[in-house]
Amino acid sequence: MAKHNKQTLVIGGGPAGMTAAIAAADAGDAVTILERNEKLGKKLYITGKGRCNLTNICDDEDFFKNIVHNERFLFSAMSRFNRWDLMGLIEDNGCPLKTERGGRVFPVSDKSSDVIKAFTKALDNRGVNVEYGVKVTELITEKKDDKTMVTGVKCADGRQISAEKIILASGGNSYRQTGSDGNGYAVAKALGHNIVAPRPSLIGLVCRESWPRELSGLTLKNVNVTLFHRGKKIKTLRGEVLLTHFGLSGPVILTMSAYLDDHPDQYGLRIDLKPALTDQQLDTRVLRDFEQMPNKKIDNALKKLLPISLIPAMREMAGIDSETKVNALDKASRKRLVHLIKNLSFQITDFFEPNTAIVTSGGIDTREINPKTMASKLACGLYFAGEIIDVDALTGGFNIQIAASTGFAAGSH
Ligand SMILES: Cc1cc2nc3c(=O)[nH]c(=O)nc-3n(C[C@H](O)[C@H](O)[C@H](O)COP(=O)(O)OP(=O)(O)OC[C@H]3O[C@@H](n4cnc5c(N)ncnc54)[C@H](O)[C@@H]3O)c2cc1C
Repeated sequence: MAKHNKQTLVIGGGPAGMTAAIAAADAGDAVTILERNEKLGKKLYITGKGRCNLTNICDDEDFFKNIVHNERFLFSAMSRFNRWDLMGLIEDNGCPLKTERGGRVFPVSDKSSDVIKAFTKALDNRGVNVEYGVKVTELITEKKDDKTMVTGVKCADGRQISAEKIILASGGNSYRQTGSDGNGYAVAKALGHNIVAPRPSLIGLVCRESWPRELSGLTLKNVNVTLFHRGKKIKTLRGEVLLTHFGLSGPVILTMSAYLDDHPDQYGLRIDLKPALTDQQLDTRVLRDFEQMPNKKIDNALKKLLPISLIPAMREMAGIDSETKVNALDKASRKRLVHLIKNLSFQITDFFEPNTAIVTSGGIDTREINPKTMASKLACGLYFAGEIIDVDALTGGFNIQIAASTGFAAGSH
């Protein structure tokens, strides 16, 4: 008798779905990926500014420190398919990789399309079938001995496809033009799954202060940024802040955004523009500069200390008139200026437009998923993989690795 291959359907052809399909095919299943787009990995294509930061080779401890929500849930999946496994899969399929600063791994070609080609080759070699332009709208279930069994999917074109195993890897809810528009949450919710409220992460922050918008394009380098929640200090990070037309962005702000909840307006930020100096040292430095140019206007006297375009805003906030000369500046005004340089405060009012989030935080409640197999605890035959799960990490290649590791766990069981 011919061996019966289990029919496995994978919903979504991102890194999670593709890795799941590869693992399921290796386990002997007959696998079909259903992808609503006309190609695989549309989001993967835009990752790492088109270069795809595939993963990160920092040690395990650091890796888990970069996972913001539910890192413990990932212990098992990460140990069964780790960074080296993902890198091996991609390199073995024709895409050599290189490691850059901070352990970030990229294709040598700097082209995300080469990573997609490697995934595609691995799928082809295993005979995985891919159906394009198919959007799954619903899961078909039946009750057996009081258990809910998933037996197939309904598609937007009215088709029904049967399967014994279904892996939902439809991604998060941002850059919706790539196909990941959050529709998978409703598909899982219809089966009773709890969805931890999705919210944007790794995204810019809108602030109440309007002056940063007028300085759009200015980068504040080597600054300390401290995040506050209802006045309580949460975190301080060093790095770059970009002022934009919408508010604050840049690497440090994107990272900070991962630590906000769905009430961004309860958060504040404080930027220390001169973190290497104490308040006293900064005051001494300002005094020294001022003594060297007593007849200059304040704006000119601050040029060595601050980015030129920032000076008028800082001076105005310190309540100093533009015509004031250094030798006419009183001590209280100078102290206000020094304090401001060390404590530039912002009240956050919102995230940037959610569609611009690099990753979605929230998703399928991890308490309802077996962490070893990614199997649903509510419906037999259903598995989850990737960003649709309530896990998310910082920038650095961690999110694609999570997608691949959870995909492997879902596919190989
Ligand atoms: C601009 C940007 C840059 C990024 N850069 C990096 C980076 O360099 N490194 C990193 O680690 N992470 C990066 N990320 C995050 C990373 O891309 C995601 O975390 C990762 O792609 C998630 O993989 P996934 O397979 O779970 O979902 P996705 O990649 O979103 O794939 C989901 C797929 O499912 C399909 N789909 C959705 N619903 C249905 C349906 N109902 N039926 C059929 N198909 C469906 C979608 O079309 C999509 O192809 C970046 C994200 C963005 C937006």
